[in-house]
Amino acid sequence: MKDSYKNHTRSWVKDEEMQAILKRELERQQSQIILIASENYTSMEVIRMMGSIFTNKYAEGYPGDRYYEGCSVIDDVEELAIKRCNELFNSSFCNVQPHSGVQANTAIFLSILNCNDKILSMNLRDGGHLSHGHKQNLTGRYFDIFTYSVDPETEMIDYENVKKIAHIARPKLIIAGASSYSRIIDYKKFREIADDVGAYLMADIAHVAGLIAGGVHPTSIGIADFTTATTHKTLRGPRGGLIMADKKYSGLINKAVFPGTQGGPLMHVIAAKSVCFKEALDPSFKDYTAKIIENSKALCKVMKDAGFRIVSGGTDNHLFLVDLTGQGITGYEASETLASVGIILNKNVIPYDSLNPNITSGIRIGTPAVTTQGMGINEMQKIGEYIIFALKNRDNKTALAELGMKVKKLAAEFPVYTDIVS
Ligand code: PLP
Repeated sequence: MKDSYKNHTRSWVKDEEMQAILKRELERQQSQIILIASENYTSMEVIRMMGSIFTNKYAEGYPGDRYYEGCSVIDDVEELAIKRCNELFNSSFCNVQPHSGVQANTAIFLSILNCNDKILSMNLRDGGHLSHGHKQNLTGRYFDIFTYSVDPETEMIDYENVKKIAHIARPKLIIAGASSYSRIIDYKKFREIADDVGAYLMADIAHVAGLIAGGVHPTSIGIADFTTATTHKTLRGPRGGLIMADKKYSGLINKAVFPGTQGGPLMHVIAAKSVCFKEALDPSFKDYTAKIIENSKALCKVMKDAGFRIVSGGTDNHLFLVDLTGQGITGYEASETLASVGIILNKNVIPYDSLNPNITSGIRIGTPAVTTQGMGINEMQKIGEYIIFALKNRDNKTALAELGMKVKKLAAEFPVYTDIVS
């Protein structure tokens, strides 16, 4: 066995322990109904690229300007990803290297802000994201954070109020973007406010990137100074981040990503992002994104018709929030109950929530994954009824067990990853 290391790249010695865990996760993804608004099922080609030999290559720098030799093929990978991304989003510049959405945001902060500069962003409780100013995040530690809330009545962004706060705070950066906001975000209104106070505007489209690419949500490109995104949510690609901006910011942003906040790019992930952009450029992606919203509205209506209060009264996008205050159940209890029958979603704070983020008064429901599976209005009706039944019978173990079987049966009717052999 002395020389066995020499066979390293030729023998496929299975890690039995890891294989067993992988098999369990495959079975979970095949048998549960995923309503987490930020999750999706990628294509096999995306998975293949992520699991490819591109992982072996160090490529610090950018195409044509690397710190390592041997990058000619890798340059082709990144150039193609950039070309496809710019075509998809109609952008003049993009950086496809950020390892994640938070990394993309961090690079923007590094590129234009100094310590203690002011940021105006959406309150976390109203739908904002941790990386927009939470006190545990570096934004909260190094910058002066001001927040805007949704209107307490409509539970939608009150642009007049954002403007008022912007005039008082005089931020250097305004962030438009959210993790749990079910309405269209008006980037043009944010642009006007930013111009009014001389602030930069960053749109974080992590959640709606796919909807924008599909043309079913207004775009922030050409309006915001910087657009950051994730590639793994509605865009349906590998786990990763993305930045788009006007060409004039290219030097600033490239430097902030590398060497500012990252080292070597994950070339296998960039290869998979490239595949994802190609898939999203296909006309069928438009149909997919329209269907996500159709399903979201349909599922929302089932819940609403059954007497559940929907935050802001409805949805324009891939997700909606259900306020459980009137149901005598917390978001935590609801998500645990639903998980026990195989319906996977997350507890979520709702605007002006009095409960803490570990308990919450609400749940967030999203339809990107079930739409990828091919589910439609009829299935949304069924899933809505299952959710309502589970919440109403949460203390009835027999009823929940029977429902669990129905959930499994429904998931099996829309199989995923049947070509993966474990
Ligand atoms: N920005 C927003 C608005 C998000 O909702 C998320 C993730 O949920 C992120 C950024 C972070 O993305 P990542 O988990 O890839 O860092």
